[in-house]
Amino acid sequence: MTDKELFEELSYSRKNVYESISDNEKQEMLELCDEYREFLDAGKTERECVERSVQMAKLHGFADIDTVSQLKAGDKVYKINRNKNILLAVIGSEDIKSGINLVGAHIDSPRLDLKQNPLYESNDMALLKTHYYGGIKKYQWTAIPLAIHGVIFTRDGKKVKLNIGEKENDPVFCVTDLLPHLAKDQMTKKMIDGIEGENLNILFGGIPIGGSDIKEKVKFSVLRLLNEKYGITEKDFLSAEIEIVPAFKAKNVGLDEGFIGAYGQDDRVCAFTTLKGIFAVQNPKKTAVALLVDKEEIGSTGNTGMLSAFFEMAIAEIIDKITGKCSITEYNTVITNSACLSSDVGAAVDPNYESVSEKRNAAFAGYGMVLMKYTGARGKSESSDASAEFVYEIGKILDDNGVIWQTSELGKVDQGGGGTIAQYVANLNMDVIDCGVPVLSMHSPFEVTAKSDVYMAYRSYVAFYNNR
Ligand code: MN
Ligand code: MN
Repeated sequence: MTDKELFEELSYSRKNVYESISDNEKQEMLELCDEYREFLDAGKTERECVERSVQMAKLHGFADIDTVSQLKAGDKVYKINRNKNILLAVIGSEDIKSGINLVGAHIDSPRLDLKQNPLYESNDMALLKTHYYGGIKKYQWTAIPLAIHGVIFTRDGKKVKLNIGEKENDPVFCVTDLLPHLAKDQMTKKMIDGIEGENLNILFGGIPIGGSDIKEKVKFSVLRLLNEKYGITEKDFLSAEIEIVPAFKAKNVGLDEGFIGAYGQDDRVCAFTTLKGIFAVQNPKKTAVALLVDKEEIGSTGNTGMLSAFFEMAIAEIIDKITGKCSITEYNTVITNSACLSSDVGAAVDPNYESVSEKRNAAFAGYGMVLMKYTGARGKSESSDASAEFVYEIGKILDDNGVIWQTSELGKVDQGGGGTIAQYVANLNMDVIDCGVPVLSMHSPFEVTAKSDVYMAYRSYVAFYNNR
């Protein structure tokens, strides 16, 4: 053995996926990513993602758990929580006491929500007040085409689904920004103060109608349109949930089409690959579970977030429908023996902003699935730090199944940080590790991923479900 060969054997370096996969794998990757772009376009909100997930699940033979009284090995079921959170399971052949294999992703993304009383008129323009959701850089949401998605109830209780701005001939909406010619004061502000949250107002209309005795003629005109088209009145906004998201579709990025650019890839890239992963599972030994949660971007709170008891209740229901009873001891045994991949995105090293990363411990786009032993901020605060035993176990499964993976932290020490659902899964007393796809421009209206990493995330989840 030459010194060069010995050095290669003794040292570690990451691998570029494109340089390491076969032509057949490349083909599978491209097909997966075509379907992924459609998934992104069909689900820009958590509600739409749940609807899409159910459609896909039914095509793969999953049934609503409420229609099933008993479960046995090989059965496929799903359970929906309040239209925003869903759990899917394929029942394993082993005793459920040996634990489940859980992959959990989130389907909420940063956006602008309409306030409860949003509509007003100013300078002969109709506008909608918003309150942003999740961690956004506010300047990124001005001067781009936006779409309106959500649900609103009419006076007599009819639920109307709004989706305006996605079809070719739909109008779009926007937040206007100041022209540079008059932005002398704005441009010298700190970036965080450049656009104020209270100024993220949506341009909603501009043709006045009505007689001279009506003061707000543009507001009147859009209210009439809303009533004609959807049967709603202004009061109906008080109970509505309406989300403002980028209006553009997912696209291939780069001359070689190596990347995907789209809104909401954090964390729908992991939601999609998790779904594809569980759909690929047939007759597993351990029960395979996929969980898509809401509210991760605001701390996993609320009854559709990871902190809700929905997950525990759904697992108890599954145990009950397999064994005929679910005692607390039995439930505890199942959870203790279970393992979770908290599938969420990582920060890819950005060539324009290399200085925030410590490149020996950062994720690179195109270098595969990224395992994050811990996230957190400062001294790892608010992190679930996966054990050496568990990181080894997962790494070995990935290696044995030809998955290309890397490890990372979220940026340099003391540069910032963040949390995921992992810490809340860990609180249940389950082994859990964060893993997912590296993303560029995370939380922006147009996030970017490498197709090879999307593919390796999918391969990871299949390997985990089939081999742990
Ligand atoms: Mn995320
Ligand atoms: Mn996020």
